[in-house]
Amino acid sequence: MANRSQQELTYTEVPLPIPILDLRAQYATYKSEALRAISEICDSQSFALGPAVAAFEEQIRTYLECKYAVGVSSGTDALLVSLMALNIKPGDEVITTPFSFFSTASSIVRLGAKPVFVDVDQDSYNIDANQIEQRITEKTLAIIPVHLFGQAAQMKPIMEMAQRHSLFVIEDAAQAIGAVQDGTKCGSFGEFGCFSFYPTKNLGGFGDGGLVTTNNEELAEKVKILRNHGQNPTYFYKMIGGNFRLDGIQGAVLNVKLRYLDQWNERRRQNAALYDEYFTDSLIKPPKIDPNNFSIYHQYTITAPERDRLQKFLSENKIGSAIFYPKPLHLQECFSYLGYKEGDLAVAERLCKEVLSLPIYPELTPGQIEYIAQKVFEFYR
Ligand SMILES: *Cc1c(COP(=O)(O)O)cnc(C)c1O
Repeated sequence: MANRSQQELTYTEVPLPIPILDLRAQYATYKSEALRAISEICDSQSFALGPAVAAFEEQIRTYLECKYAVGVSSGTDALLVSLMALNIKPGDEVITTPFSFFSTASSIVRLGAKPVFVDVDQDSYNIDANQIEQRITEKTLAIIPVHLFGQAAQMKPIMEMAQRHSLFVIEDAAQAIGAVQDGTKCGSFGEFGCFSFYPTKNLGGFGDGGLVTTNNEELAEKVKILRNHGQNPTYFYKMIGGNFRLDGIQGAVLNVKLRYLDQWNERRRQNAALYDEYFTDSLIKPPKIDPNNFSIYHQYTITAPERDRLQKFLSENKIGSAIFYPKPLHLQECFSYLGYKEGDLAVAERLCKEVLSLPIYPELTPGQIEYIAQKVFEFYR
C-alpha cells in the first residue's frame, strides 16, 4: 500500500473541532425512531424489564448468535452477576488482564475473590494466553479475558487451557459487540459473555445498561433470578441476588439502535483502514489486528513516542484523543494489598505510557481522518 504520509495534504473544509466521540451526530440519524420507542414505554409505564426488554433480548440473542441473552443494569453488573452465578467466593482466584477498565477486576474483588493479573501481548493489547497457565493454582476458578478495543482475545488457547484445568471463562465483551474470531461472535466462547451499553460503547443506551450471554440453559435461568434479587417465585428467595434489572426505556432504545450496529461497526472499520494506510511506515504504531479477528474498533489505539506531548499538540489543533488506560490495574492504589510492584507486568505498564486512542466514530469523514493523520506527521517532523 502506498505510504500516503509522503504526500503534502491540503484540506479546505474540515469540520473542527474533532471530538474523540460525537454521539450527537449519530443521534440525528435515528432520533424519531428512538423518541417513538421511548414514548411507547411511557404510555405503557413498563419501566423495569417488561416487554421491550424481552423483545430486545430476543433480537440481540439472534444478533450475537447465542442461546440466551439476559439484560442487566450495566456491564459492571453483567460481570458481577456472572461471577455470582458461578458461585465465586472469598478465597477463590480469578485470572484476568491488568490492561482493562476497572470493573473487570473490581467485580472479582466485590465477591471477596482475588484477581490474579497476567501481562498482555504488546500487539493485540489483550491478555497473553502463553502466560496464563503458570499462574493457575488450586484456588483458580475462572479466567476473565477482555476483548479490548473491539478485538477478541486469543480464545482458542484460552478455552483449551480452561478445559484442561476445569476453569470457567467469562468474556468481558463490553468493547466487542459484533466482534468475531474464527467464525464465532464474542460472548459465545465461554460460560458467559458480558456486554455494556454505556452510552459511549459501540451499542450505547440512553443511560446505563448491560447484557449477559450464555449457551447454558441452567446458567441463563440463574442469572435471570439473580438480576431480580434472587426471587423465584416473587417474594421467595432461594439465593441472594441484587437489583440488576435493565430499564424498559433502555430496552426500547437499544432495540432501535441495534438495527444500525453493523453499519456503524463497518464505518469504524473503514475509518481504521484509512488510518492504517496513512500510518504505514510512520513513527507511530497502528493497532495490530490478528488475521483471525474481525475487530469492531471500539477504539483505534496507537502506540506513539512522546505520547503526552503528541496528545497536547493534537488538542491544540482541535483534535480530541484519549488514554485508555493511563495506569494498569495491578498498580492501582485500591489493589496495593495484592502486593504487585512496578516492573511485574512490564508490557501493560509500558502500554499505559505509550497508548493513545484517536477518534474512530462512524460519522467521522475521510477529510477529518486525513487532517488528523497530517497533524500527527506534523508533530514528528
Ligand atoms: C465499559 C466497560 C465495562 C463496564 O461497563 P459499564 O456498563 O460501564 O458498567 C467493563 N469492562 C470493560 C472492558 C469496559 O470497557
